[in-house]
Amino acid sequence: MSSDGPTLNDESYAAARRGDGTQAHGHGHTHSHGGGPAHSHPLTPGQEAHAHGRDGDGDGVPGGSRGAGHDFALPALPGAVDVFDTTLRDGSQQEGLSLTVDDKLRVAEQLDHLGVTFIEGGWPGANPKDVEFFARAPTELHLERATLVAFGSTRRAGVRAEDDETLRHLVDARTEAVCIVAKSSEMHVVDALRTTLDEAVAMVADSVAFLRSNDLRVFLDAEHFFDGYKANPDFTLRILQAAEEAGAETLVLCDTNGGTLPFEVERIVGTVLGRFETQVGVHFHNDSGCAVANSLAGVSVGATHVQGCVNGYGERAGNADLAAVVPDLSLKLRVSTIPPERLPLLTPVAHHISELVNIAPNPQQPFVGASVFAHKAGLHTSAIARRSDAYEHISPDLVGNGTRFVVSEMAGRSTLAMKAEELGLELDSEAMTSVLDSLKQLEYQGYHFEVADGSLELLLRNSTGWRQSFFDLESYRVIADQGAALSTEATVKVRVDGERIVATAEGNGPVNALDGALRGAIGSRFPALDGVHLVDYRVRVLDSAKGTGSVTRVLIDSTNGDRTWTTIGVSENIIAASWQALSDSVVYGLLHTVGSDV
Ligand SMILES: [Zn+2]
Repeated sequence: MSSDGPTLNDESYAAARRGDGTQAHGHGHTHSHGGGPAHSHPLTPGQEAHAHGRDGDGDGVPGGSRGAGHDFALPALPGAVDVFDTTLRDGSQQEGLSLTVDDKLRVAEQLDHLGVTFIEGGWPGANPKDVEFFARAPTELHLERATLVAFGSTRRAGVRAEDDETLRHLVDARTEAVCIVAKSSEMHVVDALRTTLDEAVAMVADSVAFLRSNDLRVFLDAEHFFDGYKANPDFTLRILQAAEEAGAETLVLCDTNGGTLPFEVERIVGTVLGRFETQVGVHFHNDSGCAVANSLAGVSVGATHVQGCVNGYGERAGNADLAAVVPDLSLKLRVSTIPPERLPLLTPVAHHISELVNIAPNPQQPFVGASVFAHKAGLHTSAIARRSDAYEHISPDLVGNGTRFVVSEMAGRSTLAMKAEELGLELDSEAMTSVLDSLKQLEYQGYHFEVADGSLELLLRNSTGWRQSFFDLESYRVIADQGAALSTEATVKVRVDGERIVATAEGNGPVNALDGALRGAIGSRFPALDGVHLVDYRVRVLDSAKGTGSVTRVLIDSTNGDRTWTTIGVSENIIAASWQALSDSVVYGLLHTVGSDV
């Protein structure tokens, strides 16, 4: 690594660790743009200690308050950063992630709803899907806040910018802004592009100038920047300089292989910021598990544009997860990202997007995961009931998530009481005893309510005397038929408001067929069911405690777009277990969509 970077990072690093982000120097970063080294104020260990306290200012962020009374100069973080989401371009490189044009439009709407600054829509001209997306976007996508960005690359080697097809497609995409990728590592220029370093610089200069002459705002993604900088800093800086001189709005430093570590980011981004007037952005991949940390490190030394994907989608280990970068910056470092009033949309939007891209949400995803504010029975739960910040790093409401008490057979009365309170149910002591007994009995049979919040809620409601009134099951039947092809057919007989309804449906398997038949039977009475669908189905065979053979446990995840819930069924018969989980899923969905009279 080059040693010519100014040593200005100690203070920023310490501030990030303190999580205090006091903006004593006002907005903007400290670096003198002329390239001179900024002075630093190393902290002494004693000074550092007192800022670690719990939430003293009631903002729901322990220790995350401004102005904790330091008497030494504090680092200046930028006042605000631009949030640039690339789910529709870089994120779509993820294995197994495939979006239709309609999906892409819906994802863009969600991102706009969340309040990101820029949405990278794809690569116009590269494939028919992205061509159609950019053709439809001007009329079908009504962005309230975000700016749509088209992605492309610099002109090819040896071709004039005005004759280059990729640049032409970018102009034709009719967006206000474009982002072009440029090779900024000597190795890639020589080995992959097989051209000279001078030509690589000229490609950047010509391409940016051409796009600017077409009145486009231009972001330059400097590919393999960090690796390139370590090998040949002069060349990578020449690439940035060419972009700056030609009028690029933002110089985005990309860690394309994702192998860079936070201390290197601070050093290298700091150096770049010391040399350029133009806004600097960062783009990190997560191959070292540091994409979010690296993004914060980049901002901590003055980058004011952060690229990533909500939910961290992307090839290999993914891109920086904006669902973590945004709250870390906004809540902990006090750097403005999305509008503060939209921060509580983070969890619903992250879940909505995972539904649109059809990838089950990761329950352990920081800030927005279903498990990240969940507390299991025992010490934790009683402590958290007394003091919510005891085991939570922020108040979950701030990001639209919520505290959950996980209930299992180990649950004591207090856990169950808190769960009931969370659901707004009143359980008297008799009901409480009966629920605790059934929980223990059912878990012995193989149920696992800790992971099936939907079924647990129905169990608790039933203990108060509530019965679902949406439908009464008379019978169901499933037939699997191996003819020319294997087909599955299900018939469901139910009563709704006294009327007997029989419906049959085909499916690609028994659960799918039963789901279709049940929807066929009651769908017209409950149109809201249209918005409820299954997102995941998991089966596990358990050794039976009774010793009469194995039992099957089925878990079904469902969503109505806003919330996701899990239901469970256990039986020696896989169809019966599936029906239980399915029927609970539908009842839960109706209960929380149509409502109930309890
Ligand atoms: Zn990337």
